[in-house]
Amino acid sequence: MLQQTRMEVVLRYFQPFIRRFTTIADLARSSSDEVAAAWSGLGYYRRARMLHQGAIEVCRRFGGSLPDDVAALRTIPGIGRYTAGAIASIAFDRAAPIVDGNVARLLGRLCGASTAAAAWRAAEELVRGASSPRNCNQALMEIGALICKPADPECMRCPLRSSCAAFANGKFERALPKKTKPVRILRIPLYVIADRHGRILMRRHSGRLMGGMFHLPHGNGALLRSCRLTVAVCPKEIGSFRHTVTNRRITFTVYLTTNNRQPAPGFSWIHPDHLNSLPHPSYVRKALQLAGIDNQ
Ligand code: SF4
Repeated sequence: MLQQTRMEVVLRYFQPFIRRFTTIADLARSSSDEVAAAWSGLGYYRRARMLHQGAIEVCRRFGGSLPDDVAALRTIPGIGRYTAGAIASIAFDRAAPIVDGNVARLLGRLCGASTAAAAWRAAEELVRGASSPRNCNQALMEIGALICKPADPECMRCPLRSSCAAFANGKFERALPKKTKPVRILRIPLYVIADRHGRILMRRHSGRLMGGMFHLPHGNGALLRSCRLTVAVCPKEIGSFRHTVTNRRITFTVYLTTNNRQPAPGFSWIHPDHLNSLPHPSYVRKALQLAGIDNQ
């Protein structure tokens, strides 16, 4: 959950999720829709699908318990080099390196590791020499996040100061450049269309971005081509809000209307009371709140 998502957001989701799926076996036994529904609002929904697939694999091949070595962990869906290193070192105290953005910056300054490969080598060397790999990796992450900050490193309170190359020569430009995707600005009309039973017109999208989630109809295909709906009569505009999906900064303008005809092909009527058990992105909830329809 914490990959790509801020701690304060994750805190609202973690405990309910753990109560709902207490063990890896509970997670594996659940349907992918149940897992995605519990993840609704957290974004980056591919993580939920991979977590579910990973739990199934752990039960199938490892008897429901996570293996403790990096090579075996990396055969599980959704677990890459970083996550494998984090699980092996923090959960099992194995001497496995981890490099996130903060650790890469710290190692760039500490020992001149100027590429990702050099940062991984340096992290490996440090963790192999540590009496507690668990403490070593967590310390590197914490120092990287809280002390060796990008713009303003607090060297005078850094425990690594005496062996830091950047501090010794006063050069702090070794931070690895962060690769970021260019921001895309999108404007999308969003339709809240209710029938006489109070049900809302929605469509399950199957594409890569937010695939498997239920969406409201969009007025254009800028974000999700499959959710585009042309409405014959101009509905009433009720407001707009901003929303971010990965590198997309979207302004949704919400329109409200009613419709008692057959749903358009691919769309179906969903009662708002059932939304909690269906996977849906958080913008759906924002739009329904604006329309005074939210069930929470
Ligand atoms: S001494 Fe300064 S530059 Fe070196 S690791 Fe610590 S905070 Fe970063």
